Amino acid sequence: MLTPLLDLLAPPGCLACGEPGRSPLCGACRRDLRFLNDSGPCPRCALPRRPGGTHHHCPAADAPWRLAWAPVAYTGPATRLVAALKYRGALPCARLMAAQVVAGAPPGLLGPAATLVPVPTHPGRTRRRGYDQADVLARAIAARSGIPVVRCLKRTGAGAVRQQGAGRAERLEAGRIDLRLTRPPPSHVVLVDDVHTTGATLRAAAARLREAGAADVVAVTWARTL
Ligand SMILES: [Zn+2]
Ligand SMILES: [Zn+2]
Repeated sequence: MLTPLLDLLAPPGCLACGEPGRSPLCGACRRDLRFLNDSGPCPRCALPRRPGGTHHHCPAADAPWRLAWAPVAYTGPATRLVAALKYRGALPCARLMAAQVVAGAPPGLLGPAATLVPVPTHPGRTRRRGYDQADVLARAIAARSGIPVVRCLKRTGAGAVRQQGAGRAERLEAGRIDLRLTRPPPSHVVLVDDVHTTGATLRAAAARLREAGAADVVAVTWARTL
């Protein structure tokens, strides 16, 4: 509801740095975005791999998704764009991010059987801002790709999520993430969030969807924390 208003208030310049007259990104911010496909990212954790194609300790080796992918690294202008998605000009930012997701997605990731499921933000934050950034991003990806969106996850606050096999820190973090299903999940889920950091929220969401019968879950974010 607030999104059109926020769009009107967004300055007509670079979405990341505010440079006037350069929309959606100025040359410097465009140049400084680090695209991860160039590094042959790991299909499990979405992190760049070392030269030679391996990395020794994949943090997502036991993750409940089939693969995870993000077009850009969460550094430099990407951090400012994510802040802009959250706090101002949500729709132009989401459109730019969606274009990069759809253009760069590995083959089969956004296939015809897929359904986009946004990872819900904590309800308190959504209430304060008036919108949920993952939901805005999922709708922008849907508009560009034709893939439907189903909002079947709801975040309710404190509570326990079983995270067998996850690292201790991630398990502790996931233990504070309470996600409920509001309807049966689609069979081929593309989880959508803005940033993949520890992966705890994505793990909790993917585990919920798998437990409820989703046959395939992949995780797509616009940015990946290195
Ligand atoms: Zn800029
Ligand atoms: Zn990995």
